[in-house]
Amino acid sequence: MEKNIFDVIIIGAGVAGASAARELSKFKLKVAVLEKNIDVAFGATKGSHAIVHCGFPTSDFTPLKNRGELKGNLMMEQLCKELDVEFIRPGKLLIAFNDKELDLVKNWQLKLRRNGVINTQLITDRKTLNEMEPNLSDEVVGALHTPNTAITSPWALVFGLIENAIDNGVELFVDTKVTGISTNDKGKFSLETNKGTFESSYIINAAGINADDLANLIGDNNFELTNSRHQRLIIDKRCQGMVKHVIRGLNEKGALGDFVTPTVHGNLMAGEYVEIVSKGNTETTREGLAEGVVPKYLKIFPSLSPANVIKPFAGAVPLADLSGEFHIGLSPANSKFINMVLGASGLTAAPAMAEFVVQELLPLAGAKLENKEEFNPIRKEIPRIDEMDNEERAKYISQDPRYGHIVCRCETVSEGEIVEAIRRGATTRDGIKLRTRAGMGRCQGGFCGPRVLKILERELNKPLTEITRRGGNSVETMFATKELRQDRGEGND
Ligand SMILES: Cc1cc2nc3c(=O)[nH]c(=O)nc-3n(C[C@H](O)[C@H](O)[C@H](O)COP(=O)(O)OP(=O)(O)OC[C@H]3O[C@@H](n4cnc5c(N)ncnc54)[C@H](O)[C@@H]3O)c2cc1C
Repeated sequence: MEKNIFDVIIIGAGVAGASAARELSKFKLKVAVLEKNIDVAFGATKGSHAIVHCGFPTSDFTPLKNRGELKGNLMMEQLCKELDVEFIRPGKLLIAFNDKELDLVKNWQLKLRRNGVINTQLITDRKTLNEMEPNLSDEVVGALHTPNTAITSPWALVFGLIENAIDNGVELFVDTKVTGISTNDKGKFSLETNKGTFESSYIINAAGINADDLANLIGDNNFELTNSRHQRLIIDKRCQGMVKHVIRGLNEKGALGDFVTPTVHGNLMAGEYVEIVSKGNTETTREGLAEGVVPKYLKIFPSLSPANVIKPFAGAVPLADLSGEFHIGLSPANSKFINMVLGASGLTAAPAMAEFVVQELLPLAGAKLENKEEFNPIRKEIPRIDEMDNEERAKYISQDPRYGHIVCRCETVSEGEIVEAIRRGATTRDGIKLRTRAGMGRCQGGFCGPRVLKILERELNKPLTEITRRGGNSVETMFATKELRQDRGEGND
C-alpha cells in the first residue's frame, strides 16, 4: 500500500489535469494522476476546436477566464516548443456582414483593449480582406484582425504534458475511477477507486464534467455543472489553403458565433451548432449539422463544397457557470481540495490556470513548494515519417525497418510510429489514432483499421476481441477477420 501514498493527487487527465501534473512536476512533491478512462485526453479535451484564443473577455464577471485566456495565449507557444507539439499562429478575423455587425466588431476591439490585447486591427477595405482571405464571401464588409490567435492539437498537448510530467516523476494511473473520498484522523484524503485505495494530502479536482460529483464526495455542493454541446464538421485536406485565418462570425446576440478554421494537421474545421444538453451527450444530429453548420459556413465561404466533409463531430464543454467563468479555487468544504473546472477557452487557459492552481492556491492550502533542480522541460514527439526528408527517413528505416512499412496511406503513418505510440501508452484504436493520425484521413480508418488492430494485438499480447476503440464496451471486432486470420496462418473459415 505504501506506493499509493502521495502529496498531491490530481483527478482527471484532460488538459486541466495534465497541465497541473506538468506544473507540479517542477517541484519536489510525490504526485499521481488518476484517470477513469483507459487513456488520457479522452474527455472534453478531445472535442476541443483547438483554437488558442487571444484574450476575448466574456464579461467583467469572468475574471479568471479573461486572465486565463490572455496569459495562456502568451504561454502556449513556448510550451508547445518545449513539448514538441504543433502550434501555428494564423491570426483570426472576426467578420461583419453589415454595418450593424461592424459596430459590434468595433465594440469587441474596445473590449479586447480593456483586457490587454492591444495589437488588433480593424479592416474595412475589401482589397485588403481579399488579399488576406481570397475565398471569403463578397458580402463580408469588414473584420477585426487579432494576430495573436493560434491553433494547436488539444490531444497532442495532453500527451506532451503527461509524458513530460511522467519523465519528471509524476505517476499516471489510467482506468482508475475515483468513487469515494474520505479524510482520516491526520487530515489526509483517502480515495477509493476500482484499483484500490490511494492516499494524499491534497487533491486537485480536474474531473471535467464530473467535477461536481467528485466535489459532492467531500460535502462540497456549491456548484453544479451543465454541458454545452458543440457540433462541427471536419473538411478534407484537399481544401488546405482555402482558409488562411481562424474566421469567426457573430451570433444573433453579438457574441462570437460560427467559425471556419484551419487545423494544425492541414484539414479545415467548420462549426458550430451549440445547445445545452444532458451531461456527457456528444451525439451529432442532422438538425445540428446539415441544417445548422453547413448553411452557416457556406455563408462565410460559398466555394467550400460540403462534398469535402470527411467527419461530423461533437464535443461537450463542462460549464460551472453560464456566464462562462471557470470554477477554480479551494473548496469551502475542505481547503486542501482544489476545484479546477475550466469551461469554453479552457484549452487556451489551461497552462495559466495550472500555474495559478499550483503556485498560488496550493501554497494557500498549506503545501510547501520546493523547486526540483533536475526538472527537464523538454519532451520529443513520436518521429513522423511523413514529415522527414529522404535522408532522415532512410536513416530511421535502416535502424528500424518498421518505419518503412506504411500502415495508414491517407496520412502516411508507418508501423514504427504505431509501435512507438503503444510504447508511450496507447492501448486502443483511438489512442493510436490521436497519437499518430492513423485513421484520421479521408477513408477514416477503413483501410488501416484492421492493420492497426493487428499491431495492437501483437504488441499488447492481447486477444483481438479484447481490443477496444476507446475502452469500456467499445470492442472493435467479435472475431478475427479473414485477412487477420490469414496473416496468422489460421485459414479462412
Ligand atoms: C466542442 C468544444 C470545443 C472547444 N473549443 C475550444 C477552443 O477552441 N479553445 C479553447 O481554448 N477551449 C476550447 N474548448 C474548451 C476546452 O476544450 C475545455 O475547457 C477543456 O478541454 C476541459 O478540460 P478538462 O481537463 O477540464 O476536462 P476533460 O478533458 O473532460 O478531462 C476531465 C477528465 O477527468 C476524468 N474523470 C472524470 N471523473 C473521474 C473520476 N471519477 N475518476 C477519475 N477520472 C475522472 C475524465 O475521464 C476526463 O478524462 C472546447 C471544448 C469543447 C467541448
